[in-house]
Formats: sequence, structure tokens, C-alpha cells
Amino acid sequence: MLNNEYCKRVYEQILARDPDQKEFHQAVYEVLEGLEPMVERRPELEKNGILERFVEPERVVTFRVPWTDDAGQVHVNRGYRVQFNSAIGPYKGGLRFHPTVNLSILKFLGFEQILKNSLTGLPIGGGKGGSDFDPKGKSDAEVMRFCQSFMSELYRHIGQFTDVPAGDIGVGAREVGYLFGQYKRLKNASEAAVLTGKGLTFGGSLTRTEATGYGLCYLTAEMLKTLKNDSFSGKTVVISGSGNVAIFACEKATALGAKVVAMSDSNGYIHDPDGIKLDIIKDIKLVKRGRIKEYAAQVPGSTYTEGFRGIWTIPCDIALPCATQNEITAAEAEEIVKGGAIAVAEGANMPSTPEAIAIFQKAGLLFAPAKAANAGGVAVSALEMSQNSMRYSWTFEEVDAKLQGIMVNIFHNINNAAKEYGMEGNLVAGANLAGFKKVSEAMIAQGV
Ligand code: GLU
Repeated sequence: MLNNEYCKRVYEQILARDPDQKEFHQAVYEVLEGLEPMVERRPELEKNGILERFVEPERVVTFRVPWTDDAGQVHVNRGYRVQFNSAIGPYKGGLRFHPTVNLSILKFLGFEQILKNSLTGLPIGGGKGGSDFDPKGKSDAEVMRFCQSFMSELYRHIGQFTDVPAGDIGVGAREVGYLFGQYKRLKNASEAAVLTGKGLTFGGSLTRTEATGYGLCYLTAEMLKTLKNDSFSGKTVVISGSGNVAIFACEKATALGAKVVAMSDSNGYIHDPDGIKLDIIKDIKLVKRGRIKEYAAQVPGSTYTEGFRGIWTIPCDIALPCATQNEITAAEAEEIVKGGAIAVAEGANMPSTPEAIAIFQKAGLLFAPAKAANAGGVAVSALEMSQNSMRYSWTFEEVDAKLQGIMVNIFHNINNAAKEYGMEGNLVAGANLAGFKKVSEAMIAQGV
């Protein structure tokens, strides 16, 4: 509940201004709740209108994306880029291609990105973009034509010092490659740092593919060690999703001694009590772009069940939601608690509803919110930009070591911020407080 008058007023303003943007409202509400103790201590925030400015994107671009399918039929999708906040660096954040994409979802993602990017300690502002285009079932050539059309408008709004997109759901190395090719054609310049998540042959960074999933495990490991004197070793883990984040979270959790017993996609989930064979998942999802149910057909002893939410009925010690927003409602949270979990760390953006988070906190589970736990992806994106600027590349081990250092730092930063404001153990508030501190100071220093 919001108690501070200034926070309440700002929240009411966004409700009145954009009454239909429920995902954006959800993200802002959670942040304002965490920030209240700082707002009480720093009257300069209200005087400078910092919260009003903080919840309003600096710029939103929407555009038409016409493209032709393989049969010669023309389709039109809508493209977006939300340039939310550039106080600490160029707008930075992924592009999502998914039929559910709308302005509310991109504003929530862009808003979260501001604080996440601040937590990395690197000089990147917050943004997000994408389209309601559905890549599922499209041919390579169709995806290429769509990406080229999308970039034919987007290119005028981005740049290595302005706004640096990357991937998110539905946008991986293939899409970034097509987008980069089109940007280069239009600008006649090989500006490598205009996009991140690039292929390794044209400026991509080693470890970028693994970064979000690995980073999630590094932060979770540090949280377990510090707050519970525990580790991944011998633990049972459930990971929702089977995209880039989930796959590399599975790889690292397994390397750290855990057994991952379930993964999912938007249709259903697989359960393999012997531990997921990740090579098979990688082949199905990354090589063949298939569905997760194919796993059960290949691996004796494993089962497939329709419906993605059911995955949370499988008991585990550590839950890593890595699918999408609001995948864990109160009902799934109750199941996770009932199954005896000790920790939940979010690999997806905002996978837990506010009711679910309240249930975890009440039950005393360790809970690492997305903007801290999944910051490894964008952190390595920023390292990709650094390498592009230097015209140099670090080894896998060098980037991985930097990523690990960043995630350990983020954990202590948010844990300490929570303590400093009398909310010990509340990492949701800690992440909001620590991320916002830097952004708000930069905004004040740069004037209105
Ligand atoms: N889409 C990722 C995220 O949610 C990465 C963004 C980036 O690398 O810019 O943080």
C-alpha cells in the first residue's frame, strides 16, 4: 500500500493519464512502494518533480511495419520504441517481437530497464521496443523482411550515443543480425555499438548469449550464501521457459551442483526427475526452433503436460521463473511455498504478480526481483558496447569474470540499500532504492 502523499499523487496521475496500461501501472506501483522511505528522507525529489519525470518516457515512437510473406501477401504490424530515461547513458534495452506486445507492456519493460541498467553500475539509460509481430511459424526469409522493414524506420531514432537496442522475447541472434545489416545499409557506417547481442563475427561479445541465465545463477548463489549460508549444491530446481534465459540458467545451475527437473514453453511443461538433459533442449529449441513436448518423446522417464502454469506444482528448492510477465499468480506462489522452496529468483521480467511476491515474503522465502536478478544480460550488452568502442574483444573467461563481479556487486548493493532504509531482507525494495538513487541524482544534476 502507498502511504506517502507524493508517491500516491504520482501513481494517481499515471492511472488517470493512461487508464488502460495495467502492466505499466503494476511496475510503477511496486517501485513507488519501495521508494517511499527515500522519498520521505529527500524532499528535493518532490521539489524537482523527479517522480513525475521518472514515470513519463522522454520519447515514444510508434510506426507502421509493412512486410511481404513468402506467398506475396502484404501484412502490417506496429513497431515501437520507448525511450524512457537517458539520465545515466544512452537508452538501452531489448526489442520484443510477440503478438501480445503493446504500449503498456513496453512501458513496463522500459521503466524496469531504467533501474536494472542503473544497478549494473554501467553508463546505460533505459528503453525498450518491439512489435506485435509473431515470429512463430515464419520462415527465415519472412523474419528477415520483417526485420528490414522494422529497421527502415527505427534507424532514424537510434545510434551508439542515442539508443542501443538488443534482443528480448522473439528477438535473438538471427533477428539482431538482420536488423544490424539493414542499419548498416541505411547509414553506410559500421557502427557496431548501435545494437548488442550481435553475432561473434561482427562485433558480438563472448558470454552475451549465456549472460542473463548465468548472471541469474550468480546472483542467486550470492544470495543463498549471504542470507542462508547455503548454495545450489544438491538442490532441486524448477525453471519455467526454455528460451535463452532458461537454457543458460539451467546450464549454470547444473554446473553449480543443482538438479533441474522441469522446464516449459507457452504450451506446457516437461518433468524429468533424473535431471534435464540440456543438450536435447538446446537442439529442440535453439537448433530446430521446436516445441518442448518433443523432449518427452525423446527421453524415457520424462513426462509432458499441457498448460504452462502447471510447472509450479512440481516441488523444488529453488524456483527460477524465466518465461514471461505475470506467469506466477497467487495460486502458483502457494504451490511453490507448499513444495518447500527456499528461494525464488526472477529470470524473466516481472514474472511474479504483486500477490505472489507478498506470499513469498510472508512465507520467508528469499526473493530476488528481476531488475536485479536478470541484469546480467544487459550488463554484458554494455560490455559489448565497451569492446566495440575499443575495437577489441575480451575472452569468454574475461567477460564471464566481469559478469560474476557485477552480479555479486548488485546483490550486496540491493541488500545493503534495504538495510539502510530499515527494510532488511526485502530485496524488492532494495533493488528499487539502489537503482533509483543513481538515476535521481543524475536527473537532479542535469536540471529540468
Ligand atoms: N532484454 C534484456 C533485458 O530485459 C536485455 C536488454 C539489453 O541487452 O539491452 O534486460
